[in-house]
Amino acid sequence: MSTVLVIGAGGVSSVCVHKMAFNADIFSSIHLASRTKSKCDAIASSVKERAGVDVATYEIDAEEVPAMVKLIGKVQPSLVVNLALPYQDLPIMDACLEAGVDYLDTANYEPKDEAKFEYKWQWAYHDRFKQAGLMALLGSGFDPGVTSVFTMWLKKHKLKAIRTLDILDCNGGDHGQAFATNFNPEINIREVTAPARHWENGEWVETPAMQVSTEYDFEAVGPKNAYLMYHEELESLAKFNPEIERARFWMTFGDEYIKHLTVLQNVGMTRIDPVKYQGKDIIPLQFLAAVLPKPETLGETTKGNTNIGVIATGEALDGSGEKTFYINNICSHEAAFEETGNQAVSYTTGVPAMIGSAMMVQGIWDQDGVVNMEEMDPDPFMEMLNAHGLPWQVKELDRPVGF
Ligand code: NDP
Repeated sequence: MSTVLVIGAGGVSSVCVHKMAFNADIFSSIHLASRTKSKCDAIASSVKERAGVDVATYEIDAEEVPAMVKLIGKVQPSLVVNLALPYQDLPIMDACLEAGVDYLDTANYEPKDEAKFEYKWQWAYHDRFKQAGLMALLGSGFDPGVTSVFTMWLKKHKLKAIRTLDILDCNGGDHGQAFATNFNPEINIREVTAPARHWENGEWVETPAMQVSTEYDFEAVGPKNAYLMYHEELESLAKFNPEIERARFWMTFGDEYIKHLTVLQNVGMTRIDPVKYQGKDIIPLQFLAAVLPKPETLGETTKGNTNIGVIATGEALDGSGEKTFYINNICSHEAAFEETGNQAVSYTTGVPAMIGSAMMVQGIWDQDGVVNMEEMDPDPFMEMLNAHGLPWQVKELDRPVGF
């Protein structure tokens, strides 16, 4: 039985809050605060309808630390679940430290003026959380999140050491729009247009954005082009698995998405530096995000599946030589919408946010300091994935990846 305060009221938050309400034995009191209170109220009313549970709602600017501390003092949660944007990570962590409460998020901090995805800013809070006897769990979404847990599960149950790791993120969903992103457009486009980076022989290898691709035949989706990208869990995976020789992240994009993105980039619409327009500074990417379809409106029309997983090769635990395993989840956009009113990209992030929260409020994962998913026992998390809508499968492949 626990009280939680969720910050942010987008698609990911909507799924997480619904899932918390479906598990009222774990989350007995749910509070939801965001910049726009009407969005919190819309989630609360859907939760009431679907789960019969009341969610208390508040307006908050999470970048205002004193206001956050005051809200935390009023709600008295045992955990603050940050499902706003990466820009708010540090102020929310500051507020948690000041108010003496645990913290969880799904994406690492990014400065607004630079598309830089690094854990260093949040890892710098480790000693302060540890000294305060508090836990801050970073990256409890799907990727990062489940991909890290999948990897550590393989290392616990199948492989003594991991030699190569490939994370494959495929969204085979079709939303019927010419161009739209399945989660926050600003964050999505900053991520996709950043240079690709992968870990190889102890160092980062950088290549231009969207230049390296491979075709892969994804179960329940079919063949898709997957592009080499940088993704934040590569940093924590390499840190906590120092034996890894090569770790890469691949994400699929359709030709239409690439075509639109290329044009937008070429005309400067993805820039994140201010541009003077009619006497005012505007950030082109923020303006673009404002005119693109809102991810939370795509649920009704999105059809198809996501298929996200990891392929790891290394020395088998049972001494049978080198083995390759593929562990993944397939999630249906339609089923996700039916259950929570949101498409599968929000679903595959919101469910692990709920599970990470459940691990923390029940004391199953309990470690003072700033903690990455790789540091925790994967087994209880993996069990909850199976029970709460993201079942996984593992199979042995007959050889390492050929790309
Ligand atoms: P949305 O843009 O749909 O929602 C973000 C919410 O945060 C909005 O309700 C927004 O308010 C609110 N917000 C923004 N700024 C503030 C602020 N200063 N104070 C309070 N609230 C604020 O994003 P998503 O739901 O798609 O994504 C949520 C998070 O999940 C992001 O950090 C994203 O990077 C992460 N993510 C992680 C994934 C993973 O697998 N690990 C995958 C997908 C997403 P308003 O509505 O007023 O704009």
